[in-house]
Amino acid sequence: MNEISVVGGGLAGSEAAYQLAKRGYRVKLYEQRPEKMTEAHETGLFGELVCSNSLKSMEINNAHGLIKYELYQYGSLIIKEAYESRLKGGKALVVDRSAFAKKITEELEKNSNIEIIREEVINIDRGKPTIIATGPLSGKFLSNNFKDVIGNNNMYFYDAISPVIIAESIDFNKAFWGSRYIENDDAYLNIPLNRKEYYNLVEMIKNAKKAHVHDFDKELFFEGCLPVEEIARRGDNTLRFGLMKPVGMDYPDGFEKPYAIIQLRREDEEGKLLNIVGFQTRMTYAEQKRIIRSIPALKNAEIARYGSMHRNAYIIAKEVLNYNLSLKKNPDIFFAGQITGVEGYIESTMSGFIAAVQMDRHIRREAPLEFSKNTPSGALLHYLFFNVAKNVQPMNINFGLFSPIEEKLRKKEKREKMVERAKRWIEIQKEEILRDM
Ligand SMILES: Cc1cc2nc3c(=O)[nH]c(=O)nc-3n(C[C@H](O)[C@H](O)[C@H](O)COP(=O)(O)OP(=O)(O)OC[C@H]3O[C@@H](n4cnc5c(N)ncnc54)[C@H](O)[C@@H]3O)c2cc1C
Repeated sequence: MNEISVVGGGLAGSEAAYQLAKRGYRVKLYEQRPEKMTEAHETGLFGELVCSNSLKSMEINNAHGLIKYELYQYGSLIIKEAYESRLKGGKALVVDRSAFAKKITEELEKNSNIEIIREEVINIDRGKPTIIATGPLSGKFLSNNFKDVIGNNNMYFYDAISPVIIAESIDFNKAFWGSRYIENDDAYLNIPLNRKEYYNLVEMIKNAKKAHVHDFDKELFFEGCLPVEEIARRGDNTLRFGLMKPVGMDYPDGFEKPYAIIQLRREDEEGKLLNIVGFQTRMTYAEQKRIIRSIPALKNAEIARYGSMHRNAYIIAKEVLNYNLSLKKNPDIFFAGQITGVEGYIESTMSGFIAAVQMDRHIRREAPLEFSKNTPSGALLHYLFFNVAKNVQPMNINFGLFSPIEEKLRKKEKREKMVERAKRWIEIQKEEILRDM
């Protein structure tokens, strides 16, 4: 039986190991946690979510929903466990992060084709088929092992995570449950702010002390996950028209239409912990506490986890990798996850899935599977390998990456056509992907 190593048991590595095991390979899955944690992980569990517990939209007419649909069709472990650990989250797939990671861990541990090795891999054995899925916080590991093949194309950007509040420390008289645009839904706790409170908050955020970040002058943010202070810096009303917009909601008795709202979302099934949506930050812990406690309902807030900044590593796939995600200079070594230049939990999962499918074909000496640009998988790959950007940034799935619909139609109709077309192509791909299973 062929043996394949997978390095890293995050979302991509867990999916890849599971898929390879399902295809009959003997998998050695290396994970450095709990012995050696990263700056963002807190447990030894596989598939741990390092920040938000939302896996974004479940709606199929949304690109985030469509990529979940695709992975589900192919038998993804991560998507299956996500649905099984689902919390209330409106249209988003919000999970109990602990239950989610435990289920993934159990699945991998009980799989007789997978041998779990809890150790930090220092040197890669380049003679063995291996999938590298060490995640965005593994820059040092990447440059130590692959400097000669990745060279200066090993790039990075900065990302940030939001603070989490202990629910019982919140004044619920000054907040109410509800979701924008969904009636009778209690996915979010909303804290209303009047005009004065809003501008005070913006002023405090703008003037807050920030934690020192190494290589500060070169900082680059990912536009989909900007620190709240960076959003506030762009204009006093930017937050009020963005993540704090007071729209699409019925206000319960005793609440007037606010000037802005802050939303908090459950971190766990019982709702004991709530994260402040979109408040990723690099403010110092002391400043976070001071500012959070200036918010009416959070006067006595106890902070379970502070927001923070991290360095994210990724490689420029089109320069370093083949289309099947293997190294141009060593076709036995594949890459998967966020380090391939995709961005996001599910995109990383998809990359892990693709790496496993392509590794299987590589070992069987079959040509790589060409994923259609009409599907989320193919659209992401197309971005990685055929973008013309000079300064390539990791990418979330979005409909802009898909083959366009040329017909002159309204936006909604075009979107519907794109989704119908994607579903047809997913069926075709599914047949090929699951052919011998
Ligand atoms: C701080 C932060 C916040 C983020 N927030 C979000 C978010 O809210 N939503 C979102 O969609 N995406 C978010 N992302 C982006 C991305 O989706 C996640 O990083 C995702 O976990 C990437 O999946 P992955 O499998 O590529 O890497 P990871 O999930 O990080 O998994 C990598 C694994 O490899 C292990 N490992 C690393 N090096 C070694 C080694 N040498 N030997 C053995 N094991 C090793 C690590 O311990 C880890 O378990 C965030 C990223 C960061 C860094």
